[in-house]
Amino acid sequence: MQKKTVTANARKHIALVAHDNMKSDLIAWANTHKEKLIPHQLVATGTTGNLLKQTLNVDVTPLISGPLGGDQQLGALITEGKVDVLIFFWDPFEPMPHDPDIKALLRVAAVWNIPIACSLASADFLISSPLLSSEYNRTIPDYDAYLSARL
Ligand code: PGA
Repeated sequence: MQKKTVTANARKHIALVAHDNMKSDLIAWANTHKEKLIPHQLVATGTTGNLLKQTLNVDVTPLISGPLGGDQQLGALITEGKVDVLIFFWDPFEPMPHDPDIKALLRVAAVWNIPIACSLASADFLISSPLLSSEYNRTIPDYDAYLSARL
């Protein structure tokens, strides 16, 4: 498929998700980087989002909980161009009932070329990037061009 470019604003839409065994890591990480996160628009799966709100007092839009469809909701936001960065601390030691949704979220994030951090170290690299607070031209699939070539 052909590609095109979209420009993400300096103020990003950052999505945060953590599985239960990873939530303490995510909260501690978000606390460490709170000042860097606050200028952006934060969205999270339900329990992760509510924990972030309560413990860090940050403005987060919580979706439905991951096992209830929150990962799919986030995937839909990605396809709509409403997510610029994904911080996803999935648990490598526990099988999840919503494993297909997790796989789908990671796939759709790759399709739309979203920067993804799945570990503390990668999240540190992402949050430290100057691109986080500047405009960024992201390459995405050009579905309109695909459609007009076919119709
Ligand atoms: P939660 O969902 O934030 O509602 O716990 C995370 C997940 O399991 O994907």
